[in-house]
Amino acid sequence: MSTVFFDIDTQIDFMLPAGALYVPGAEKVLPAVARLNRYAAERKIPLVSTVDAHLENDAEFEAWPPHCVAGTLGQRKPETTMVGQIVLNKRSVDCFTVPELPGLLEQLGAERCVVYGVVTEICVKHAIFGLLKSGRHVELVTDAVKSLDEAAAARMISEFTAAGGKLTNAGAVCAW
Ligand SMILES: [Zn+2]
Repeated sequence: MSTVFFDIDTQIDFMLPAGALYVPGAEKVLPAVARLNRYAAERKIPLVSTVDAHLENDAEFEAWPPHCVAGTLGQRKPETTMVGQIVLNKRSVDCFTVPELPGLLEQLGAERCVVYGVVTEICVKHAIFGLLKSGRHVELVTDAVKSLDEAAAARMISEFTAAGGKLTNAGAVCAW
C-alpha cells in the first residue's frame, strides 16, 4: 500500500509560545513531527505539508486572532521540521478547500495516509475526515498532534475510529 505523510499546519504561530495563535504545549510534539518528517524524507515517502497562508484581512480573523499571514515569520515552519515536502497553502481550516488536493492525492497514489500536526479537533480533523471520505486508509499519529480543547479532541477521535480511522504513534510509524 503506498503511503503519504500529512503534516498539518505545524507553523511557528501555532507551535511556539511566541506565536500569534500558540496552541499550549504544541512545542512538545515538535520532536515527534520532526522525526516523522525526517523518516519520510529518508524513505522517500511523499510528505504533504498543509500551511495556513492568510491574507491580512482573511475572514477567519473574525473568529481567531490574526495568524500565519503569508510572508511573516510566524507563517513559516520551525527549522527542525523542514525536509523536502509538498507545501499546500490554504486560507481556511479545511485543506480540502484547496482545489489541487484531490488531484495531488491521485498523482501520489495515496492509499495509506499518516496524519499529524495541529490543531487535533480543527484542521487535523478536516484532513483525516476528508481523507477517510475519499476512501483511503487513514492513521492518526496520536503523539504528534495537539489539541486546544481536550474533550472536543477526544470526541473527534472516537468519531474517527468509529468511521474506520486507525490510531498509531510515531514510534510505530517509524518502525516499519
Ligand atoms: Zn488559519
